[in-house]
Amino acid sequence: MLAMAGARIGLKSKIYSDVADAPAADVAAGLTVGAYTDRDALARFAAEVDVVTYEFENVPVTAADAVAPIVPVFPPRAALAATQDRLIEKQTLAGLGIPVAPHRAVDSADDLRMAIEVLGTPLILKTRRFGYDGKGQAVLRTPAEAEEAWALLGGRPLIYEGFVPFDRELSIIAVRGRDGTVLCYPLVENEHREGMLHRSVAPAPNLTAELTRQASSYAERVLATLDYVGVLAIEWFQVGDRLLANEMAPRVHNSGHWTTDAAVTSQFENHVRAVLGLPLGACAVPRPCVMHNLIGVDADFARRLADPHAKLHWYGKEPKARRKVGHVTVVG
Ligand code: AMP
Repeated sequence: MLAMAGARIGLKSKIYSDVADAPAADVAAGLTVGAYTDRDALARFAAEVDVVTYEFENVPVTAADAVAPIVPVFPPRAALAATQDRLIEKQTLAGLGIPVAPHRAVDSADDLRMAIEVLGTPLILKTRRFGYDGKGQAVLRTPAEAEEAWALLGGRPLIYEGFVPFDRELSIIAVRGRDGTVLCYPLVENEHREGMLHRSVAPAPNLTAELTRQASSYAERVLATLDYVGVLAIEWFQVGDRLLANEMAPRVHNSGHWTTDAAVTSQFENHVRAVLGLPLGACAVPRPCVMHNLIGVDADFARRLADPHAKLHWYGKEPKARRKVGHVTVVG
């Protein structure tokens, strides 16, 4: 989607991936297949391009370090480091005065017992690294479930989070240019099922000026502190008229995929513009929209195309259980 947005404004994208069937290769000018730990391959790749960006946050920081002496890499290394570890992420947010759920690091069964004593239940135990789409998480409704959760996740650095009794989940997609300009899309309402994004409504219904103010001022704080360039997403729990940050992503985000069909400038184009130092495009949303993710082996390509109002995006990925294989946006 980044490569396609770039192509529209006359750019060619080259892809570096650790898999040979990377869907981006279908719409890009070249594909280099290599490990994210292969510094030589990364350096050769960097020598072929003007700027490097990434679109998932589990690229090792060392991969960014391997290309940084050769070409600019955006978003900055600090953003990658801060979002790869849920504990550091929460500490970064809290350090900026942004509310987050109560939490503690858990490295042993004793830590878990202590965390339950201090923070109570219900709670969510999560792996600190490499978790996404609800993977690497266990909900403990009562202290008696601790043993089972430890058996599932123990042995890795974990974080214990108090369960937030949220009214709804929201996200903000923000973009910062190389010159420090910040723009934000309207807040989006997100519905998750089994820890995965199922549906987004944009702009979120029943938005108040106060919610928008909180989300955009918090996002601006994060962007300025990290000297960020590119698109950043922050996911929120809304409790009453207050926002708590759940997590952030240093990249274009699933809850902003609708921007291609419904915003003046898509998150993809704005990310590309930002990393190249070009002026940003407007984030206004002339007509509201709903975006549905297509997930798993039952995701139905033909049925979606049969709806003349649906804008179908099919990623060309092998369908698998719990894998996002496409999305549909309906505008208006
Ligand atoms: P995450 O991977 O951290 O975004 O978690 C996936 C989903 O699980 C979130 O979007 C929420 O629906 C739910 N969730 C995660 N953490 C919490 C929490 N501390 N309190 C309540 N719900 C949570």
